[in-house]
Amino acid sequence: MQPRSPAPSQTTAPYIHCEDLFKIYKTDELEVVALRGLDLRVARGEMMAIVGASGSGKSTLLNILAGLDTPSAGRVTVGERDLLTTTEDDLVRYRRTEVGFVWQQTGRNLIPYLTAEQNVEVPMILEGRSRQDAQARAAALLASVGLSEQRRRKPSEMSGGEQQRTAIAVALANDPPLLLADEPTGELDSVTADEVFAVLRALNRETGVTVVVVTHDRQIVQRVDRVVAMRDGRTSAEIVRHVQFARGPGEVIDEFAVVDRSGRLQIPREMLEALDIGPRARLELSGDHVEVRPEAKPDDAARDTWGRR
Ligand code: ADP
Ligand code: MG
Repeated sequence: MQPRSPAPSQTTAPYIHCEDLFKIYKTDELEVVALRGLDLRVARGEMMAIVGASGSGKSTLLNILAGLDTPSAGRVTVGERDLLTTTEDDLVRYRRTEVGFVWQQTGRNLIPYLTAEQNVEVPMILEGRSRQDAQARAAALLASVGLSEQRRRKPSEMSGGEQQRTAIAVALANDPPLLLADEPTGELDSVTADEVFAVLRALNRETGVTVVVVTHDRQIVQRVDRVVAMRDGRTSAEIVRHVQFARGPGEVIDEFAVVDRSGRLQIPREMLEALDIGPRARLELSGDHVEVRPEAKPDDAARDTWGRR
């Protein structure tokens, strides 16, 4: 048999690479495991989304990728940088120039008493750029998010969607290669949310900035290259949209379960419940697929001991 050449995405090192990543929050009485062995790869220039129930660890992951929080164990690299072992000084540099961040709360992204263009200029001036340079770039960035007309307005004089588009311009002020957004449309209606996603998509295509966005938006799969679902601190499923030409141009949406390095995969809860699968399942290789069945139960009494039915 001919050796199969690896898929293109596997030949180049991923831009973001998380492997067996753990984050444990310790408080006085208890430990919360927010990330438990998370695996994730993101290619340079990709625009991808992370979805998942509240508490599944999405913000924890984004804060680690932003250099705002440190992981407890495992591996996380962005570009050449190892975020687990990097120094505090280097992390400051990383946060300033390598990554832009957009928060859900519009108020957290912008300085209220500055205009849109002044807000965009601030990060550049802090980096030592001349006022003239900063002004020119702020004007160009605000144009690219469709806010040339609103550039002299303060946040309180703009809609929620306009504030978030300004926040995207602020996040990209120093031209970082990575843009992270934690539920940037969480406080917006669906039409306005669409405009924000369209701006992110356009910037991603035009500048090649890698975009990772956490969202609850159900339409997100139409807007990004790939959606990764998180459950209980791990990535559990992946939805990929691709164009197929076999039967005329069209789009196919494929959903996959994530299989980690140890061969573990999460069976969606609905499937477990539909088949009444308890703590053990039977696996059988059947030609080109694997069959997963509930453990055979001798009688209904056995179910009772599992606390089911
Ligand atoms: P999501 O963004 O998916 O809603 P989070 O990453 O915010 O989830 O939280 C994941 C888990 O970690 C939750 O159980 C949450 O309560 C816990 N957690 C998050 N931040 C902290 C913190 N600073 N201290 C203690 N527990 C935290
Ligand atoms: Mg969150």
